[in-house]
Amino acid sequence: MTEKLYDKDSHLSEFEAKVLSCQDNVAVLDKTAFFPEGGGQTADTGFIDGIRVLDVQEKDGTIYHYLEKDLEVGKTVKGSLNWEERFDKMQNHSGEHIISGIVHSLYGYDNVGFHLSDSEMTMDFSGMLSREQLLRVEALANKVVWRNASFNCYYPENPRSLEYRSKLDLTENVRIVEIDGCDRCACCAPHVNTAGEIGMIKILDFCKNKGGVRLWAVCGKRALEDYNNRYKNDAEISVLLCSPQNEIAEAVKKQIVTIDDLKYQIGGLKRRIIADLSDTFETEKPFTLLFQDGFDIKELQLLADSLHKKLGGIRAVLSGNDNEYAFAVCGKSEKLDSWFKGFKATLNVRGGGRNGMVQGTVLNTKEEILGVTNELD
Ligand SMILES: [Zn+2]
Repeated sequence: MTEKLYDKDSHLSEFEAKVLSCQDNVAVLDKTAFFPEGGGQTADTGFIDGIRVLDVQEKDGTIYHYLEKDLEVGKTVKGSLNWEERFDKMQNHSGEHIISGIVHSLYGYDNVGFHLSDSEMTMDFSGMLSREQLLRVEALANKVVWRNASFNCYYPENPRSLEYRSKLDLTENVRIVEIDGCDRCACCAPHVNTAGEIGMIKILDFCKNKGGVRLWAVCGKRALEDYNNRYKNDAEISVLLCSPQNEIAEAVKKQIVTIDDLKYQIGGLKRRIIADLSDTFETEKPFTLLFQDGFDIKELQLLADSLHKKLGGIRAVLSGNDNEYAFAVCGKSEKLDSWFKGFKATLNVRGGGRNGMVQGTVLNTKEEILGVTNELD
């Protein structure tokens, strides 16, 4: 059994230990401050005698350090944790206990899932919670931080005599994490000494999950980083919209109304262009091809159809840019089918149609399209 230094002192970031065994870059020490992967939390990283610790796993009470190189067996080595990473995990894991304790005491739901990685923390509860309920949980959780409640981690002599939250039905060697006046829970991970170290608890999102709810939350440094990201975004949007930061949602709503209004006006103008073109366009030719900027496929179909109705023959209309033109072509079925066969055979065309109308995209330049269609003519 490896002596778990993090059990007694979660703030120990450097330690000395003896190498008991080392094979294929996997070392066992007599004691360690490296917390192995477990209970939803990823393993600590850092260095042992300058050699990088890539992963840490526990099996039957022995802790295995996965290293970049082998260590000398029997040697006394110095371990140092990536403390910033470990403290970040402590802030978040301890914050999770506070949230879970409050959810349990207010609504009676159990924490049935927990995941803490370098970038994300999720927790699953056995019942659904509304946004209002989560805001209440968050407010109470931050009050626990503000009163700087103490965390006490211990192995009770008689766990059966204690009431505590636990995912597993453990009765032996149970490690209890107790938050003064807030929660008591079985947990093997290192925690902060006092809730003030967590800094801030912020619940971000939630969704339905297996009959309950999944939450995303950030604590401590992560909450500050999240705030900074959102602040940066808001500031950029506020400059773009020429609106004070606390009014950007209203400003966006106004923009959407303006855009919808413009779309409606543009639609009207395009319909007028289609009507004018249909009225004024005259030709004796049995085939014509028009390029019309800014038309969507429906508008192209409308124009091709109305030109064909007026002039007969085959009427093609295209809109777009070199190497990606949308097209609609209208004509009498038989003639159109044979024209479209030639069009498809000579250009890079995607599309088709029936009943006297074909449409799609042609991935060629205007010059190439005109060259070929003159020949087809
Ligand atoms: Zn825990």
